[in-house]
Amino acid sequence: MTRPAVAIIGAGLAGLTAARLLQKAGVPVHLFEARARVGGRILTVDDQGNPSDDGFDLGPSWFWPQMQPGMAALVAELGLAVFGQNSTGDVVFERMSREGAHRMPGLGQEPQSMRLAGGTAALVRALLRDLPDGALQVATPVTALRLTGEGVEVTAPGATVTARHVIAALPPRLFAEQVTLDPAPAARDLARWHATATWMAPHAKIIAVYDRPFWREAGLCGTAQSLVGPLAEVHDATTASGKAALFGFVGLPAANRAALGDAALIRAAIQQFTRLFGPEAAHPVATLIKDWARDPLTATGADTTPSGHPAAFAGGWVTGDWAGRLVMAGSEASPTEPGYLAGAVEAAQRAVRMILARDHAQ
Ligand SMILES: Cc1cc2nc3c(=O)[nH]c(=O)nc-3n(C[C@H](O)[C@H](O)[C@H](O)COP(=O)(O)OP(=O)(O)OC[C@H]3O[C@@H](n4cnc5c(N)ncnc54)[C@H](O)[C@@H]3O)c2cc1C
Repeated sequence: MTRPAVAIIGAGLAGLTAARLLQKAGVPVHLFEARARVGGRILTVDDQGNPSDDGFDLGPSWFWPQMQPGMAALVAELGLAVFGQNSTGDVVFERMSREGAHRMPGLGQEPQSMRLAGGTAALVRALLRDLPDGALQVATPVTALRLTGEGVEVTAPGATVTARHVIAALPPRLFAEQVTLDPAPAARDLARWHATATWMAPHAKIIAVYDRPFWREAGLCGTAQSLVGPLAEVHDATTASGKAALFGFVGLPAANRAALGDAALIRAAIQQFTRLFGPEAAHPVATLIKDWARDPLTATGADTTPSGHPAAFAGGWVTGDWAGRLVMAGSEASPTEPGYLAGAVEAAQRAVRMILARDHAQ
């Protein structure tokens, strides 16, 4: 049995940020990740759907440096290149199926949404850079935590470690469903974890890759809103390196998406791109779909219907027996930017500050 100082559950943005900060403070970490890949909701792929250094984002694409200084500082510290979401040109609005799409002047963006060159996974790669060998175990879902005299015994298939502290760097709702605690957590904490919606978990994203951004040539920025569907909102997803693409958020609920199936949904999305952007949109070189509601390492049964943005909660996420040993640090636990990439960074920074302060006080 090994004895790392801090165990982290989840190698998404929050877990990787926490690992990096603890490592910098000289605290060894043991980072458990259930999936075979790192990044969590961050997923950047090539046009075949394989992880890519210069690809398309099936998860988050944007951050807003003007409103999210902590996130902006991390991106700058890691030396990552950024570029603005394309908003040059007209937008398209589709109101009813019996009338054509309306073209309107775009309003630009305020605040400007920024993207990472190479895709959002650039952040993940940069955070992994300084993680020491052996600190990360992928394909290792944590199933149980038990308080012991020395700290917390962390159980995952094929791995048991005792840690002084545990950081739960995953959506609180997922943590509540996946990890058994002994002793049981305080009832009100458990209720809060279950009640906290996982941001974007109910949603699906479709990407169509093209040989060139023909809509820009026609004076369109690639943004569209639709009350017709199946896509409710469409944006330009062209990479910093110039690979042309459009993406859309599917407006149908998860149950309807499942009933329709991916192939039919993609066909309907291409028809919609064609209505919105013209006949060239009918011939993408590739299409990609990711239905997050069907991914059990993001969504629970409660995430099949959208329940709004998680409310910010600055109080104690963990009280009772677990208060001194367990810290919640998934994005949803952020008191100011819950659900966002910036929230994952902030929640991780906060968790590490708490743990270092506790260690200092002992
Ligand atoms: C389609 C989509 C679009 C989005 N767009 C934006 C955007 O434009 N801008 C923005 O700011 N945010 C956006 N978001 C939200 C953003 O992705 C999240 O806020 C952020 O990635 C959350 O990071 P996290 O580390 O807190 O959680 P996650 O990324 O969910 O990471 C949790 C990790 O824990 C792992 N895990 C789960 N169970 C276990 C277990 N039992 N043991 C070990 N590991 C486990 C998971 O596999 C995962 O890797 C979007 C999300 C989606 C899905």
